[in-house]
Formats: sequence, structure tokens, C-alpha cells
Amino acid sequence: MKNLTPAKIVSTLGPATNNEEMIRKLYKAGVTMFRINSSHGDIETHANTLKLIRKVEKEEAAIIPVLLDLQGPKIRIGQLETPIQIKSGQILMFKHTKTYENGIIPVDYKGISNDVHPGEKILIDDGKIQLIVEKVENKIVYAKTLTSGEIKPRKGLNIPGSTGSIDILTKRDLEFVDFALKNDIDYLGLSFVRNKEDIKTLRRILDKNNSPIRIISKIEKPQALANIDEIIENSDAIMVARGDLGIEIETQKVPIAQKTIIKKANIARKAVIVATQMLESMTENPIPTRAETSDVANAIIDGADAVMLSGETATGKYPVETVCLMKKIAQDINNSKFLQNNCFPAEIQTEHGKTEIAIALSIADIIKNMPKIKGIAAVTATGYTPALISECSPSVPIYALCHDIKVCRVLQLYKSVFSVLIPNREIKLDKQSASTLNEFLQTNLGLNKGNIVIITGSMPHMMSGASTNFLKIHEI
Ligand code: PEP
Repeated sequence: MKNLTPAKIVSTLGPATNNEEMIRKLYKAGVTMFRINSSHGDIETHANTLKLIRKVEKEEAAIIPVLLDLQGPKIRIGQLETPIQIKSGQILMFKHTKTYENGIIPVDYKGISNDVHPGEKILIDDGKIQLIVEKVENKIVYAKTLTSGEIKPRKGLNIPGSTGSIDILTKRDLEFVDFALKNDIDYLGLSFVRNKEDIKTLRRILDKNNSPIRIISKIEKPQALANIDEIIENSDAIMVARGDLGIEIETQKVPIAQKTIIKKANIARKAVIVATQMLESMTENPIPTRAETSDVANAIIDGADAVMLSGETATGKYPVETVCLMKKIAQDINNSKFLQNNCFPAEIQTEHGKTEIAIALSIADIIKNMPKIKGIAAVTATGYTPALISECSPSVPIYALCHDIKVCRVLQLYKSVFSVLIPNREIKLDKQSASTLNEFLQTNLGLNKGNIVIITGSMPHMMSGASTNFLKIHEI
């Protein structure tokens, strides 16, 4: 088994990489999960990319989760024939309309005039243009510019203070959800989540279709920060989407928001991804800035399960080099033992009386006391046990032994967890079955005679339903 670095790498595919050769190279360089970004491109292109990922997965005998990121209710400036030059202090007019007429700038969102109020900020083009709303009259928003510059067609428009009446899933998103339901997608990224109701809207569609697809809530609005506990509780995983978050809240507030989200997700045992501008300068250059290297390292040390690359691998000049470097950063942190003292946030340790917590804490202790232990084999049907133990940040790999490829794939996102597809739900631990078990551990996990592994899961059937209730220290 290769690629045992605990922290996971998510790579966004795009024009620079959505071909078989690059997907294979990126996987071999250390990518755990590929991200397809529905904000760009059409369904046909993405369907082809997905087909190529699955081909590489099969040929490399790998287990590769795929995240389809929904664009969500991103508001945009409408079509303009030419960019509009603006000066600070000017009053601009915006309206939901198709074309630029009588000095009124078109916006593609119907509810714009209802959602903004005097005194609120409007940000355009990743915050390069900033305005303050003066008044709303006859569905026209009047706003004073705080910056000079130019407004280009189809640029994003953020209303950070607005609670927003906009639907969480747009028509385009629903088409992509339908695509995900009919194809082999593992995670859906839900953009601009504000509260648990937004997540439930998508969950209802998935449940209605009996779909095992998991939801990654992207935290990129101040409302999401205000409702972070209910969002984490209702999500399967979380993404700190620093691109839009850094527009919607002041940039200096992003690091504390990031650390808070990671900590809360860790306590809730939900995988958490830190995204955007991690190695941004590698889009153009073969080496990153020192600040970027530190950013990746600190996110991992803080407890992120995965770090994500966007433009670096979608359109960048050095996609493979960027993944190799990210992997090296993650490996060096692991070798430095920085992660290994992170065992369980104190909040989890105080969940007294729970068998599974007692077992996970014991596993962490045993590993510290028995350096000969080479791994933890967690037998699972739902993924519960490996996800729980992942929070211990053990110094050895957690092998998630699971019969369900969909669960195997989603578990790959968790730090230190490496999935192994097993043919059926049971692994026998009795004396007669010892040689079969040993052969399995040697062949599938690359372990050797004399190695010690911890086997854990739920008895009697080593499967789901009951939570984690046993551990065995097993010498091969
Ligand atoms: C982000 O905003 O950081 C993000 C990951 O979302 P997107 O790339 O869809 O803007």
C-alpha cells in the first residue's frame, strides 16, 4: 500500500489537468480526492473527466473519492459590452435586468433589491470593487463606490451582511445534483451555506433518491460562521472555503475562523478541508512563497484532514510539482511528530461513559506504549470507527476495512485513514482463521510476520449497527 501520508490532498481538475495522463500523474504524486468544479464548464466535460478518474482508479487499483462542487447562489454582474470604469465616491445603480442601459448595471439575481439595505456593503470581483448601499428605489440599488477601478462582465458580486432570500440550489446546481445522482460521485460541495436548512434542502433530494452521496458544506459566509455548530452537525464534512470567506468577512478574520472551524469539526468527527490559495503562487512559479508553505503546514498541524488545491492544479503551470510539494510538506510534519501529540481534543475525552471513546483513547495509549505496532485495522460498514480513531492522530496508519466501495471512498478523506475494500462484511478473529487473517494483513496492508496491529470494530459481526466495542492486539 502506497501513499500513507496522514494529511490528504484534494486537487481541482480543470483545463490544465482534465485528461487521463495528468489525472494519473496527479494521483501518483499524492492526490487523495479529485474535485470537479461545476462553476466552470458543462456537464458533458465533467462527465468525461469523471470517466477518466474512474479509469485511472481501476487501472491503478486505487480508491479515489470525487467531489463535485456545486456553484451555489453566486450572484454575478450581467453581460456588459465593455468594462465600466469607476471612481471612488461615485453613485452606481444596479438592477436585476439583462443589459446595461441608462447607466444601470445588470445583475443576474432577481432578489438583489430585496436583499440589500442602506449601509450594507456590496463587493464585486473578489472584493476589488467595494460599495456602500445608499438606498433602494423602484428595484434599483443605489450604491456609493469606496474604490476606483473597473467593473467587468460576469464578475461575482457578494453581499456580506445580507441574510439572503436566494435559494441555496440554483437551476444549474439542480442539474448537477441530478448528474451526481446518476453517476459515481462521492461528495457534493454545497456552496454559500447559511444554516442547517440549506443542508437539509440538498439532503432531502439525496435521501429521496436513496443516495449515499455525502455533503461537504462550504463555509464562506458570515451567517455560516454564526450558525457553525448546526452546520457541522448536519454536514458530513466541512470546507473552509477561504476564497469567498475572505471576501465576505475581513481578511484578517479568516485565520481565526479557520482555526475555530477545524477545531469544531474535529470535535464532531467530521472531515475538514482547508481550501484556496494554499500554494497560489505555484500557478505561475515552480516554487511557492515561504508564507504559503507555512500556511499548508499550519492547517495540517491545526487538525485539517485535507488541504485543497484549486487554480494551482486546474489551470496552473506546475500542477504535478504543486501536489509533490504539498505531499512533502505533509510528510515532513508527520516525521516531525508534531501531529502525534494532538491526541483527541479535550472535548472528546470528556465524553465519559461511551465505549467507543474509551476504546479510541486506549488505542492512542497503546500505540504510545508499543512502538512495534504498525497499524490499526478498523473493520467498518458505515465508516464510524475509522473516522473516530482518525481524531487521535495516531502515528500509524488506520486501515479502514470495508466491503462497500462508496464508504471506502468517503473514508479516504479522513486524516490517517486508508481504505481497503474487503469482499464481505466479516473478518474472522478465531484461532482457526488466524492464518487467513495474517495472509490478508500481509497481502493487503503490506505488513510482515512479527508486525503487531490493533484490530478494532464492533462484535459479534465486525460490522455496523453497534458502535465500536472491542480491540485486539494482534501479532502476525
Ligand atoms: C472558495 O471560495 O474558497 C471555494 C473553494 O469555492 P469556489 O472555488 O467555488 O469559489
